[in-house]
Amino acid sequence: MGGVQPKRHTKSKRNRRRSHLALKKTFLSVCTKCGRAVLPHRICEYCGFYDGREIVDVAARLTKKEKKKREREEAAAHEARAGHRHSGEATPELNPEELSKK
Ligand SMILES: [Zn+2]
Repeated sequence: MGGVQPKRHTKSKRNRRRSHLALKKTFLSVCTKCGRAVLPHRICEYCGFYDGREIVDVAARLTKKEKKKREREEAAAHEARAGHRHSGEATPELNPEELSKK
């Protein structure tokens, strides 16, 4: 048999317990090379750069399919920089200051 609850907890007791259950927003910084949101003190997952140096040769590790996807993304980003604004280019727009706010 399982344990039997000795006494009912009040709403106050329940709410005090749950006061620590809220989730915090993840702090993100911006990659100096590609401008994507990255976790601080970690290599950029996208371009493999950290501290202004290339640590991981990301391009060499990609599969054919992933390479094609990257090429398409880079072409789209290039166009966006040239002045044509397309929808769906949300990643470079991420502002770490805003994301870190509660
Ligand atoms: Zn990067």
